[in-house]
Amino acid sequence: MEVKVKKKQRNLLLKSEVTKDYPWLNTLLLANEKFGVELVPDELKEEFINIVPFIIKQGSEEWKGNEDVLHPIEDMGHARKRCALCGTKNRYIHYIKNRLNGNTLNVGKDCVEEFADIDFLQNGKSRTELYKNARRIRKMSEINKKFNGIDLIIESWARIPARYDVIIPNSIEQPYFECGNLAKKYYDGYLDEKYSESIFKKIDVLLKQYYSFIQKMDDYQTSMINDKFVVTKAMMRWLRDKNFTEIIEKVKDEGKITTSTIQKMYESSFIKKISRDIVVILERLKLEVIKTDFENEYFVIKPEMYNGQIIIRCNFDKVVYFFGGLLFNEKSFANLDMKNLIRISELDDDKSIENLVEVMNDKKFSKIRISLHFDSFELNEVDITNITNGEVSVISLKLFVEQSKRFLLHATESERIKFEEYLLNLDVKKYTKDELRQAREQIGSISSRFGSLKDED
Ligand SMILES: [Zn+2]
Repeated sequence: MEVKVKKKQRNLLLKSEVTKDYPWLNTLLLANEKFGVELVPDELKEEFINIVPFIIKQGSEEWKGNEDVLHPIEDMGHARKRCALCGTKNRYIHYIKNRLNGNTLNVGKDCVEEFADIDFLQNGKSRTELYKNARRIRKMSEINKKFNGIDLIIESWARIPARYDVIIPNSIEQPYFECGNLAKKYYDGYLDEKYSESIFKKIDVLLKQYYSFIQKMDDYQTSMINDKFVVTKAMMRWLRDKNFTEIIEKVKDEGKITTSTIQKMYESSFIKKISRDIVVILERLKLEVIKTDFENEYFVIKPEMYNGQIIIRCNFDKVVYFFGGLLFNEKSFANLDMKNLIRISELDDDKSIENLVEVMNDKKFSKIRISLHFDSFELNEVDITNITNGEVSVISLKLFVEQSKRFLLHATESERIKFEEYLLNLDVKKYTKDELRQAREQIGSISSRFGSLKDED
């Protein structure tokens, strides 16, 4: 940040008490209406950059907390008086008073507002506080001469790890923070006159550690940035959004994604990095991954069965949860086989569902016939006809698909019979073919009058 003294600040500082501690600054103020570091002699440049912002703040606080400033106390009529800070000609004149040295300045309406802040009227610093703060700034100037920019280092210490693109693990971050707490304690203690200059030796050691920690974090980032399993800022943000506190603690401890955290890690930038590996793993089975849909977060998969007529999709979260361990050549939560894959997948499209129904009818159920009708997908309905008596049960298509997709793989005779019995004995209304046709014709005429009736769930 560039440090500059503006005209108003200069005029105020010339009448402020704090300035007296810095004769070199007073000389510069007298010689220049406004200036930046370029006009400061070389040997004072560092002190100017480190300390002047605090002197400016202290200067303006000396003039605050004074209720008089709220009301103009002089009306010049047709005459005008120049504001002592900005030089604007004003009819109404306010006076501000320095609470340490009693100096007064006449200022205009705009400038006075900077001093009439209601918060400051209530919380204006007491004279004791102002003196104490001035001493602090003097101390700050001393310690900055010894350690250039230390105020900024102390102030930003805790925020440094968050600036990296990768998450700095606890093993580096925690000792770094401890070091920072100690440095702040010594630094503040020195400013508050709790410690003498003898504390500089300890501060010196801590600052050397600071730079070596920074180096460590730089090196860590360089070495990890291309590691697929490194935890990035984006992943950490995602973990926080998901409220995965336990995982956050683990990755901070381990520094990267491991078998113990992979199950809950499906943030999209991470999946992008490992998607090739996942495809290779899934393709150990007889299937082809035909698409990785990052937007909807699933893999689209064509198993080698039924001439590729059944397409399934498996969500990222389920893939990493059940099979993530395989990325580390470790045991996965579920065995990677077609049965488990189908169990955690959904059928991808209507065509695949139609094909599933066909497969189910081919399974030679002896007592039922499964059929879709024109609005099956829209109404989420499938008809189960009891061949023996012609009664039809209408059930949820989604539920039916979910329960019957396992029959895509080999099933035993008893499993089939059991499922057939289950479908026949569902506690739903049974229609005759005619009743059902009439009911659907009615719905058809209603929907042609009022637009289609959609049952979206
Ligand atoms: Zn002004």
